[in-house]
Amino acid sequence: MMNIHIHRGQNQIGGNIIEIATESTKILLDIGLDLDDEKNKELPNIDGLFDSAKYDAIFISHYHGDHLGLAYYTHKDIPIYMGESSYNIIKASDHYKKQKTITPHGFLKHNIPIVVGDITITPYLCDHSAFDSYMLLCEAEDESILYTGDFRSNGRKSFSRLLKSLPKYVDKLLCEGTTLSRLNHKAVTETELEEEATTLFRETKGPIFVLQSSMNIDRIVTMYRAAKRSGRIFFEEVYMADIATAAGKSIPNPTFSDVYAFIISPSKFSLLSKYKRKAGKGFIAKQSFVMCVRNSMLRYLKSLASKMSFENGLLVYSFWSGYRETESMKEFLSECEKLGLKIVTLHTSGHADETAIKQLIDTVNPKVLIPIHTENAERFKEIASDIIIENNKQNPSNLRFGGFYFV
Ligand SMILES: [Zn+2]
Ligand SMILES: [Zn+2]
Repeated sequence: MMNIHIHRGQNQIGGNIIEIATESTKILLDIGLDLDDEKNKELPNIDGLFDSAKYDAIFISHYHGDHLGLAYYTHKDIPIYMGESSYNIIKASDHYKKQKTITPHGFLKHNIPIVVGDITITPYLCDHSAFDSYMLLCEAEDESILYTGDFRSNGRKSFSRLLKSLPKYVDKLLCEGTTLSRLNHKAVTETELEEEATTLFRETKGPIFVLQSSMNIDRIVTMYRAAKRSGRIFFEEVYMADIATAAGKSIPNPTFSDVYAFIISPSKFSLLSKYKRKAGKGFIAKQSFVMCVRNSMLRYLKSLASKMSFENGLLVYSFWSGYRETESMKEFLSECEKLGLKIVTLHTSGHADETAIKQLIDTVNPKVLIPIHTENAERFKEIASDIIIENNKQNPSNLRFGGFYFV
């Protein structure tokens, strides 16, 4: 019998730390940071994780901070497993931020089991707003537990192909329910978003800026394709260019003929120099373009506005709407309006809507469902009325806005 202990992440969104243990083996699924940690920098009190090595392995479903963030602090004798592209992306991000990165012991590959003690862990590649995300199946002593991590059905990876590869029965399903607190939430697909963006970009005369996460690889693809289809070249700040390059050759990066890298500070010139296609403001000002930006780039945008007209220009807001309420975002958006940009929202969720959650449940037929990564666990009782729902009400929600968990 495997014991499941959710240290954190049940009745809240993010900060997942899930322990799976048999009598002889103890592993963790995800080791996420929650926002309180970011502020206090205090490690949770879990014996044998930071000061000593009493766990046999840690499996990371994907690279979002609320699933991976504590991996930087764990004892070095505990092996960490994660996707190879995930690792390359994290490494590129850490390199840009000049911070120490993590060293995985091994990589997750779709449908290739990893054995740790008497537990067999099988990863299943799924779609999410983080590239290279996995569901994790744990099997021991004739029992099976499937952990969904974060997933969605509205991305570019086929959801039906994933469902076909999953087992037809599991004893327990640890299922994310991020969107269950949003009434009648039906997710637009990434392809539909591309169509919308293409139409909008074609109608726009001025420059187009897209405010989006550099880690959201699917969204980079969507915005790049819309740029291409509307005859615009694509600018990536070097942080995004490095991440896109790390994600793989097919992801839009400055080796593409219509993608250019740029920097917002001369201190990043060493990162830029490796790219053949790089752009300064003088060049940018003469182009018809889509430029990906972050809300920390206000000074750069103001300086660019002094070299070209922002008239009839757009700022595409491509994040979860909740971030609009943060002070830094409010300020950025109002300053962009002052520069003459019209603000338009184009976004779709990185998380499964109810239909996708139901499809998953119907596919793996769990005996017991354990809600995770949700603020509305009760909703599962309606979605899966014939299944036992286990929710012990621990970890009441303490989510505050300001992180990037909803992308
Ligand atoms: Zn998450
Ligand atoms: Zn996530």
